[in-house]
Amino acid sequence: MPRGKMKATEIVNGWPMRKKKDLKNTNEVLYYCIHRGRLTDCHASYCINMETGEIRVIREHFGHEPNALEAEVEKMKSELRETAKSSTESPRALYDRIASKYSAEVVERAGSLSAIKRIVSRARTVEPPRKLVKKDDDKEQVTSASFLENLLNDIT
Ligand SMILES: [Zn+2]
Repeated sequence: MPRGKMKATEIVNGWPMRKKKDLKNTNEVLYYCIHRGRLTDCHASYCINMETGEIRVIREHFGHEPNALEAEVEKMKSELRETAKSSTESPRALYDRIASKYSAEVVERAGSLSAIKRIVSRARTVEPPRKLVKKDDDKEQVTSASFLENLLNDIT
């Protein structure tokens, strides 16, 4: 799935997961593990009942352990992406606002400010024309941001 279409990360039973689709027949929402398509390529899928909130496990997680810190880090990065799309705040202001909701440990693991700026600018590139993106700022951060992101993906 292209990055721009990624759904927000939610923590389901301690696991970072993403909504895949509504299952109207059973009144449930289908969630996939965020590691699907990554190195671990975990194909876990859970269904959550929309009324009762009951979780039905279709396929359990495989190849990685539940990690509360990782789940929070993924949630923070996702929140940055989602908020970036609907706000015009500077990356710094956005970062400060979102970071204030998380513990110092989570904020540190979520990446440096330059990596965060990259997440924000990429999230905003989806809708507006490319012209609006400041190319110079972009170039400067490409190397370190993508390096950090790969590093983070490898760790998690
Ligand atoms: Zn998983």
